[in-house]
Amino acid sequence: MVHPIRNIVIVGGGTAGWLTAGVIAARHRTRIGKDLTVTLVESPNVPIIGVGEGTWPTLRTTLSRMGVSETDFVRECDAAFKQGARFARWTTGKADDGYYHPLMLPQNFGQVNLAPHWLAGETDESFCDNVCAQGRICDDGLAPKTIATAEYDGLANYAYHLDAGKFAPFLQKHCCEKLGVRHVLADVEHVKMTEDGDIRAVGTAQAGEIEGDLFVDCSGFKALLIGGVMNVPFKDCSDVLFCDTALAMQIPYDLPDDPIASHTVSTAQSAGWIWDIGIQTRRGIGHVFSSSHITDEQAERELRAYIGPAADRLDARKIRIRSGHRETFWKGNCVAVGLAAGFLEPLEASAIVLVELSAKIIAEQLPACREVMDIVASRFNATTHYRWGRIIDFLKLHYALTQRTDSDFWRDNLRKESIPERLQELLLLWQYQSPWFHDEFDRVEEVFPAASYQYVLYGMGFRTHVDSAGLMRDAALAGRARRENAAATARLRSALPRHRDLIDKIVSYGLQPV
Ligand SMILES: Cc1cc2nc3c(=O)[nH]c(=O)nc-3n(C[C@H](O)[C@H](O)[C@H](O)COP(=O)(O)OP(=O)(O)OC[C@H]3O[C@@H](n4cnc5c(N)ncnc54)[C@H](O)[C@@H]3O)c2cc1C
Repeated sequence: MVHPIRNIVIVGGGTAGWLTAGVIAARHRTRIGKDLTVTLVESPNVPIIGVGEGTWPTLRTTLSRMGVSETDFVRECDAAFKQGARFARWTTGKADDGYYHPLMLPQNFGQVNLAPHWLAGETDESFCDNVCAQGRICDDGLAPKTIATAEYDGLANYAYHLDAGKFAPFLQKHCCEKLGVRHVLADVEHVKMTEDGDIRAVGTAQAGEIEGDLFVDCSGFKALLIGGVMNVPFKDCSDVLFCDTALAMQIPYDLPDDPIASHTVSTAQSAGWIWDIGIQTRRGIGHVFSSSHITDEQAERELRAYIGPAADRLDARKIRIRSGHRETFWKGNCVAVGLAAGFLEPLEASAIVLVELSAKIIAEQLPACREVMDIVASRFNATTHYRWGRIIDFLKLHYALTQRTDSDFWRDNLRKESIPERLQELLLLWQYQSPWFHDEFDRVEEVFPAASYQYVLYGMGFRTHVDSAGLMRDAALAGRARRENAAATARLRSALPRHRDLIDKIVSYGLQPV
């Protein structure tokens, strides 16, 4: 006798819970209400974390597949466009120290690796400007598309900045009204198990027992099911990534027409860094720091000094964070997504994208019956482990390349034992060949592709030995790519509207529906 998977129960109604519900319900929309139910149980008493405002371009596909209108999303989530991140003071700590990690690939990236050509050229132009248009688009404060561009299309690649407090309720409405997700407002208080060690039902105070065949733990830092019931240990990564506290503030614009930056700004501090994210009505600004290196009071002083008088009379919200992830993500019939699976400092906005990618695997490989669930679980675990490992490497890269020695925090970050072995190996290799397709970035849906490593390495002054034979071989392709980039940069700078103007137009008139 087989045990079909017919009832999926998601515990938690934050960004992770609703995105997972939406991705699964959209993928299986013809089955919902027939032989499949998706139920989301959310506590009316435990608030969502309400931070997490930087995203990755995957969110466009995710929302589009869920049938969300981009216009509605921009209007209701106070959203703006994100075209990458600018990292300030990460290399030398001086005022002129900064570089972009844009979302566009280097020009003709599939045909030619421009990195050696830039390295050999000894130009004053930054790597980013030399190979793609997006740094200049961000400098000019331009949007990645025009009002005539269809929903989810872009003239430049983009993601979003959004109001996290509005995003979960927006998704909830869409999931319940359009995708048939059942919403239960109730506190999970206990769990009923089967004899085989699976979860049979969650017991709630307000709605009794809710039975399921597959349980998705989206309960946030509490990790109610994966940690509390399945007892999967937490793998701590604070020996690599030291930041463990965030202080967050919301700063309204002075004037309704103030420019909105279309990139995240990340400015290094004495023992961490400050994020600065512009949405329609305010900036979300927060200091992520290591409490082993500075006190909360010092961190708050640095945050207030960064913001200036606009921070006077406003309180900072403190959030403790624990760097790391579960040792296993899917155990038995329970899979963890979002903060329940783990968390790493939000330096490259890698959390929501991991939620999307996890939800996508669950939806696409949804086991037909319990008998095959362990096979899907083991694949899910292998892929998800790989992703967490690569994200840890990529985040540490930002620290490992610093030349700053002005505080213990930066000096400690350079200690060899704090740098993962795989990253040490790659850093050695990259002295002789620049990251490109030949590196191990070979997985489908790599969170950070080789291009991302190039932007950070060469943005932070890393040098790779240049092979002159290779330069000669690719000279014609590189020349063409450079000319095409110069032309694309000029074309986009004249065609793209001011970011604030486009957002205002979308709010007033909407984009072309797909
Ligand atoms: C300082 C900070 C900055 C961040 N910045 C970014 C960023 O820029 N980009 C990015 O991608 N990510 C970022 N993140 C991560 C991002 O916020 C989260 O990944 C995202 O919000 C998903 O959270 P969640 O849904 O897993 O958890 P939560 O939002 O905490 O939701 C947990 C849910 O579980 C429910 N729950 C808890 N207990 C029970 C119970 N007993 N019964 C029923 N329900 C229960 C709660 O009611 C809630 O609905 C940041 C995180 C932090 C801490």
